[in-house]
Amino acid sequence: MAQVSLRNVWKTFPGNVTAVRDVSLGVENREFVVLVGPSGCGKSTTLRMIAGLEDITKGDIYIGDKLVNNVPPKDRNIAMVFQNYALYPHMTVYENMAFALRLRRYSRHEIDTRVRDTADILSIKKHLNKRPKALSGGERQRVAVGRAIVRKPLVFLFDEPLSNLDANLRVQMRTEINKLHTRLQTTMIYVTHDQVEAMTMGNRIAVMKDGIIQQVADPISLYDKPVNKFVAGFIGSPPMNFMNGIVVKKDDKFFFNEGNFMVKIADEMREKLLPYCDKEVVFGIRPEDVFDKLFVQYASADNTISADCEVVEPMGAEVFLYLNTGKHSFIARVEGHNKPAVNHELEVVFDMTKAHFFDPKAEHTIA
Ligand code: ATP
Repeated sequence: MAQVSLRNVWKTFPGNVTAVRDVSLGVENREFVVLVGPSGCGKSTTLRMIAGLEDITKGDIYIGDKLVNNVPPKDRNIAMVFQNYALYPHMTVYENMAFALRLRRYSRHEIDTRVRDTADILSIKKHLNKRPKALSGGERQRVAVGRAIVRKPLVFLFDEPLSNLDANLRVQMRTEINKLHTRLQTTMIYVTHDQVEAMTMGNRIAVMKDGIIQQVADPISLYDKPVNKFVAGFIGSPPMNFMNGIVVKKDDKFFFNEGNFMVKIADEMREKLLPYCDKEVVFGIRPEDVFDKLFVQYASADNTISADCEVVEPMGAEVFLYLNTGKHSFIARVEGHNKPAVNHELEVVFDMTKAHFFDPKAEHTIA
C-alpha cells in the first residue's frame, strides 16, 4: 500500500520565506493527484518535501504507514521525474535506466529484463544504445520516465515533467502518462502550473496559492463548484468572467445589477444571496455560459444584456467573442458558426443557472 499523507506541513526557508503553510493532503493508494497553482505557490516545495529533498519545518509526512520526516530520499521508495530530465549525459539510455538498479545491486538478468520491458512500454527500445544528446526532448522525457519506472517505486513524483516540450508533444505525453498510470496502478503525485494538464490528468486536483491548499476535488467538482474566486478563475480557459455589482431584491425576485445591465438571479440561489441584498458581490460566469441571442431559445429580458462586440476570434470549432458592457470586459465562447459584426452592439444571453457569486472582499463562494 502506498498512500501518502501530509499532516499540517510547513516549510519556511532561511530569510523567513514561508513557502508552504499548514498543508494537509491525503493521497490514496493508486491515486493520481495533481498539485496545481501559479508560479511560487509552493507546489514544488511540497513535492520536494515528500521526496525528502527538502527538510520539513513543521508537520508530518507519511508514505504508507511510515513516518518519513527523517528518512533519506533513497530509502523512501519513491521515484521523481524532473522538468529538466536530469539524465546522465555520458551514459547511454540503457545505462541511464539501469543505473539506480545497479546501485541497489539487482542481478544483471533482473536489470536487463526491467530495462527492456520498460523501454517497450515507452517505445524507446530503438534508442537504448544512444546517448541523451542524440534524442529529441520528447524522447529524453520518456527516458526520464523510464528511469523512474524500472525501479517499481511505491510512489511516482512528477515535477512539471512536460514544461520543456512543445505544445503537441505535451498533449501526447499527457496521454502517455495517463495510460501509464492506468497500467502501473501506482500512486502518482504530479506538479504543474498548467490547469489543462491538471484537469486532464488528475483523479483529484489540489489547487495551491501562497503556500496554502485552496481546494482539493475531482476535476469536474472543481470546475462546477469552486470554493472561491481564485479557484474559479484559475481553472478553465478562457477563464471565468468576473463583474462587480449589487444584489437587488424586487418583490420575491433577486437581480444582479452591474450598473449598465441587470439580470435575474436563479431562484435557487436566493437564499444564499439574502445576506447580500443591496450589497456588492462579484458575479462570475464562464465564457461557455454566455451566448449570442440569435442562437438561443430561452432568451428573455431577465437574462439578456447588450454589449459591444470588440473582437471576434475564430478558433475553428468555436469562436471567442470579446465583449464590453461599458464597465466590464468579458468573453463568450460560442459555436463556430457565430459571426457577429465587430464594433457593434450584440445581444448576449447568460445562462443564469450556471452563474457564480463571490464575496467581494473575502472572495469565498456565496452561491
Ligand atoms: P514554480 O512553478 O515557479 O516552480 P512553485 O509553486 O513550485 O513555483 P516553489 O518552487 O515551491 O513554488 O517556491 C515557493 C516559494 O518559496 C517561492 O516564493 C520561492 O521563491 C521560495 N523558495 C523556493 N525555494 C527556496 C529556497 N531554496 N530558498 C528560499 N526560498 C525558496
